[in-house]
Amino acid sequence: MSASSPHRRLAGLNPADLMATATSQGDSDEAPPELAGIEIQHLIGRGGMGAVYLGKQLSLDREVAVKIVAKAGDELFLERLEREARTMAKLRHSNLVTVHHFERLPDGSAAIIMEHVQGGTLRDRMALHPQGLPLEDVLRWTREIAAALAAAHRSGVVHRDLKPENVLLDGHGSALVTDFGLAVPTDRSSTRLTLTGTAVGTVDYMAPEAFHSADPDVRADVFSLGVMMYEMLTGRIPRGSFDGPRRQRPEVPRELDEVVMRALRPAPEERFAGMDELLAAIDRAVLRKGGRRWFLGAAGVAAAALGIGLWKKRKPAVEDATSLAEVSSLSPKEWRPLLSSTDLSRRVISGRWTREGGAVVTDDSVCVLTLRDEVPAAYRLRVVFTRLSGDYCAGVFFRVNGQVTSVDIDGWDKDLAGVQTIDGLSLEQQEHPFTFALEDGRRYELKIEVKPEAVRIWINGRELGTVPIAGRQLGVVFPWRWDPAQRPAALAIGSYQSPMRFESVEWWPLDP
Ligand code: ADP
Repeated sequence: MSASSPHRRLAGLNPADLMATATSQGDSDEAPPELAGIEIQHLIGRGGMGAVYLGKQLSLDREVAVKIVAKAGDELFLERLEREARTMAKLRHSNLVTVHHFERLPDGSAAIIMEHVQGGTLRDRMALHPQGLPLEDVLRWTREIAAALAAAHRSGVVHRDLKPENVLLDGHGSALVTDFGLAVPTDRSSTRLTLTGTAVGTVDYMAPEAFHSADPDVRADVFSLGVMMYEMLTGRIPRGSFDGPRRQRPEVPRELDEVVMRALRPAPEERFAGMDELLAAIDRAVLRKGGRRWFLGAAGVAAAALGIGLWKKRKPAVEDATSLAEVSSLSPKEWRPLLSSTDLSRRVISGRWTREGGAVVTDDSVCVLTLRDEVPAAYRLRVVFTRLSGDYCAGVFFRVNGQVTSVDIDGWDKDLAGVQTIDGLSLEQQEHPFTFALEDGRRYELKIEVKPEAVRIWINGRELGTVPIAGRQLGVVFPWRWDPAQRPAALAIGSYQSPMRFESVEWWPLDP
C-alpha cells in the first residue's frame, strides 16, 4: 500500500515524524520485529505507517498479520492507536479484519496482530480492470463493505479513511475492511497540513465536510463508499462536476447509477443516512432490474399474484406455524444427524458460529458452515431453525447433479424462497420464486428432497414447491460469499446477516 502512504498524514502523525518514518522504511536491513509467541515469517508489505509481516502465532498454530507501526515518537498518537485497536477488536463481522492483539514494543513502536487476509487489496484488483470491475463484483464488494461498516457504525465507530487500499480480499474473493479508525483527522491544523502537503490524489475519498470537521459522522463513510463504487464501476475517480457512472458504462442500471450519485451528494443530509439505507437502496435497485424482467414476461402477473412487493417490503401473513409435532409429511424412518458431530473449528467457511448445546447459532454476518463433503444422487434433508433477529434468509446448500446450489428462505429481505438456479441467477432474478416470510423467534422445520430431476421443498409440513433441476445450471450466487468451486462441499447451512439458531440438521439417503 505504499502508493497510499500520504493518506497516513491524516492519522495525525506530524509531518516531521512522518518523514523520519518514511526514511527508516527505506532501510531494507531493518530487522524483523521480535514478538513473544509469534514467529515472523516474512514481510508482506510496507505502508504509510509501518510494515506488515506474515507471522505464525505459535500457541494457536495460526497465520496472523503483524503490523508494526513505526516509531512515531508521538505518545498521543500511540495512545490513540491503542484505543482504536481496542475498539476494532470489539467489532465482529465477517467483512471486517479481526484485530487479535495490540502491543507496545520496547523500542517505542507498536504491533497490531490481526487476521491474515490472503488475496491482496481492492486497489490491486481494480488495477487489473482499468475500465471498471465486473458489475457482479462491484455489487458484491459494495454490499460487503457496507455491511461491515454498518456493523461498525452500530458500535459507534466511523472509519473515516475508507479507500480501496483499506479493503482486503480473501481467498474466497470476499471483501474485508481494515485500518478501522486508525486514521482519524485530529484537528483542523493537522487536516490543513495534510491538504497543503499532500498530492491531489490523497483526499479523493474524503467527504467534503471531513475537511472542515474534526468529527465527521457515518455519512462521511457513505461518501467514501460512493467514491469507491464510482471508481469500481468506471475505473475513474469522480472529481469536480461529473456524470453518473452509467454515462461511461451504459450497462450500469439506472437505479444503481442513482444510488452512487446519491452517496456522492456534497451535502451530507442529501446522502443516505447510513449504510443500512444504502444497502436497502442497492437491494431495491437490483430487484427493480429483476422486477422489470418479471413485468416483461408473463411472470409479472405471477409475481403480482404472489404478492412480491417490487418496491416495498410487504410481508405476507406468516404461514401457519404448525408445531413440529404435527409435521410429518416426509416421515423418513431414520434421519441421520449432521450438526452434532460437526467440528466448528474446521468447517466454518464464513461468519461466526457458536455452539449452544446441540444447536449452533450464527451472528449477523454472512455465515456458512459445511456439514458433509459427499452425498449420493438422491437424499432428503431436514433442518430445524429459528431466526433470532434480522430480515434476511436462512440457506441450505447442497449438491445435486454434481453442482452446488442453495435453498434460501426469506431471501433478499423480500420474502423470496426457492432454489438458486438457472445459470446462477439469484432468487430475485428468477421468474418463479416462491415467497415465504420468516417470523423472528419462531421455529421452522424445512425439508428438502433432492433428486437429479427436481428439488421439492416443504416448510412446516406444507409443500412450498418443486423446482425442476434436470439440465439446469445451478450455482451459489451473490450475495452468499461462498465459492463452492474453491471449497468443495456437498452439504452446508448458512444465514445471511440475520442471527439464526440451527437446532438440528439431518439427512436421509434415498435408495438409488
Ligand atoms: P497502509 O499503512 O498504507 O494502509 P498497511 O501498512 O496497512 O498499508 O499495509 C501494507 C501492506 O500489508 C499492504 O500490501 C497490505 O495489503 C498488507 N496487509 C495489511 N494488512 C494485512 C492483513 N491483515 N493481511 C494481509 N496483508 C495485509
